[in-house]
Amino acid sequence: MPPVLLPLLGQIAIITGASRGIGRAIALRLAHSGATLVLAARDEQALREVAQLIHANGGTALVVPTDVTVDEQLAALVDQTLAHYGHIDMLVNNAGGGPPRTPIIKARLADWEWTLRVNLWATMVLSKLVLPGMIERQRGAIINICSLAGLTGKAGEAAYAAAKFGVRGFTQSLFDEVHEHGIKVSSIFPGYVDTALIPPNRRVDRGKMLRPEDVAEAVHGVVMSSARSCPVEVMLQPQRDPFKT
Ligand code: NAP
Repeated sequence: MPPVLLPLLGQIAIITGASRGIGRAIALRLAHSGATLVLAARDEQALREVAQLIHANGGTALVVPTDVTVDEQLAALVDQTLAHYGHIDMLVNNAGGGPPRTPIIKARLADWEWTLRVNLWATMVLSKLVLPGMIERQRGAIINICSLAGLTGKAGEAAYAAAKFGVRGFTQSLFDEVHEHGIKVSSIFPGYVDTALIPPNRRVDRGKMLRPEDVAEAVHGVVMSSARSCPVEVMLQPQRDPFKT
């Protein structure tokens, strides 16, 4: 039997929003390929459970409780990662969400600010913080979990759409600036994924939604893409429409 190949062995990956849903699945997928994970989110207990699962499967993970809406905690996340491992190969900006659907006229400014911070601002700040090391090493990957809401604005989702449109623009600019340094930059645009973010709704067939593992596979595909190529924008739709009976 040939030895099992771990293509990401020795590579250090920070995943935000790794405590549940899509971020958890991304962490497990990258760990399965040998990456060392740095797990960030607010729920420390949930992060520890993800880390335990990774350790039980022979992998390595560091838990760094982080609220990505707080700039100092973003800096601390990068500092702690560098102190432990010396470098960062991958950053997956996945933490995100939004308030319940609300018309603009009734929206609370605090909800707008939180939505822009968690989805867009944190993505921008963390990307900026990891770039110097990636440029120095002439390698790396920054993958931003966007949304179809980043391509089309819908009523009731103004702040979320604004944030995700922003993520798309930021990612395109980032790619343009750093691709010559060998750094992969990508936005992933998933359709409906069966996670806690999507509230129960009798009209939707959750069995037809994407699963977090589908998005994780797309992230894995980006980091495994050839050195000559970069999947800069990846749209991921459910094969069958969850709203069609
Ligand atoms: P989820 O199950 O609600 O998970 C959201 C994750 O973000 C959790 O790990 C949460 O961890 C973390 N998070 C939220 N606020 C945070 C904060 N202030 N600081 C740090 N972490 C924070 O949702 P999901 O569906 O997996 O969403 C993940 C990403 O996919 C989001 O960017 C979302 O916009 C995007 N997306 C989702 C869908 C979908 O249909 N589900 C579709 C397209 C795009 P803590 O609560 O522990 O902090």
